[in-house]
Amino acid sequence: MQEMFLLKLGEVVLKGANRFTFETRLCKNIRRRMKHFGSFDVNLRQSTVYVTPLSEDCDVESAWEACHTLFGIAAVARAFPVEKTMDAIFDGVMTYLGDTLAAAKSFKVETKRADKSFGLNSIQISQEIGGRIAEAMPELLVDVHNPAFTVHIEIREHAAFIHGPSEPGAGGLPHGIGGRGAVLLSGGIDSPVAAYRMAKRGVELECIHFFSYPYTSERAKEKVLELARLITKYTGKMTVDIVGFTQVQEAIRDNCPEEYFTLIMRRFMMRIAQAIAKDHGCQCLITGENLGQVASQTMQAMVTTGAVIDLPLFTPLIGMDKEEIVRTARQIGTMETSILPYEDCCTVFTPKHPRTRPTLEEVEKAEAKLDVDALVADALQKVERVRVKYYED
Ligand code: ATP
Ligand code: MG
Repeated sequence: MQEMFLLKLGEVVLKGANRFTFETRLCKNIRRRMKHFGSFDVNLRQSTVYVTPLSEDCDVESAWEACHTLFGIAAVARAFPVEKTMDAIFDGVMTYLGDTLAAAKSFKVETKRADKSFGLNSIQISQEIGGRIAEAMPELLVDVHNPAFTVHIEIREHAAFIHGPSEPGAGGLPHGIGGRGAVLLSGGIDSPVAAYRMAKRGVELECIHFFSYPYTSERAKEKVLELARLITKYTGKMTVDIVGFTQVQEAIRDNCPEEYFTLIMRRFMMRIAQAIAKDHGCQCLITGENLGQVASQTMQAMVTTGAVIDLPLFTPLIGMDKEEIVRTARQIGTMETSILPYEDCCTVFTPKHPRTRPTLEEVEKAEAKLDVDALVADALQKVERVRVKYYED
């Protein structure tokens, strides 16, 4: 028998009647992900997904890495399946974990017995196998309280599985189970994290980016596409809609009072994003807004930008500290790209003294000279769709 992966279900196990839908989706996502690395069998039994390579040429290491990015999985372990006899289990431990044990100072054995028909109970199995290991490796100490290494044995329906400590999975809910949302993706630190957090709750994403050529450069656009690509490590393929935003911004600059520039610009982003989102069957907009971070993210400012849309606006970072956001950005691998120094269209025509406590009435008055519908319709004509993906087919 050969090494395989055990993926333990996360919150999915809390689902009642919907559980079947969740599990089906999860397995579909895992199969789709594993396909990039060769032929794998993906099978769910008793809250565990068994992923087994089916041929020699599977890229097992990359597949293993990818197992850590699957939402809906709480923990992952590489394991060695053996026949359900004590001799086979002991031989399996020595073959599979012998070197690791030899390098450790102390160990213990922990057994889980899902198959209650197995002759010994979990404590008896741990004692027996632990005893045999200690006999075979006399220099290795048994330490049940603080062992340097723990051998895990799981007695399941069709086989016994041997593995070392599990590693944390990506958590969350299976991708796609939580509906579809459109993320307003900038080149900053926040919006990629917002995208990740919604994806983690099972939301299928597409991205919308506003681009103001020549005020923002081609490299700024490439940076955003790279950020989107990094997110697809978790979500699978995504589309990014790049919206030409120059005309809108110039119209605002030429026709509106300066202190309202950013707010009015953000209202246009919302309107245009909503039109695209609805057109593509998205049920919400998502931004990286964070209360109090900048003038346009005070509660009053957000009321004026939220007022132009009727889709729900999800801002998963709203109550986080910057430090927490940065930590997540580092952990998911978007930070380095986010801090590349290319400008965003938000930094073009920024007012010296932006309004921080605007009223809706004021803002509506400030944009009164603009033909909003025409500007929105025009921007919608200038959308470029780009597909991004992390994993090669
Ligand atoms: P970020 O780090 O995500 O850029 P930020 O703190 O810089 O956020 P803003 O620039 O005010 O804040 O933008 C707030 C949110 O508006 C962003 O998180 C993003 O969701 C959206 N946004 C800003 N600029 C753009 C853009 N050029 N294209 C698409 N969405 C944008
Ligand atoms: Mg920004």
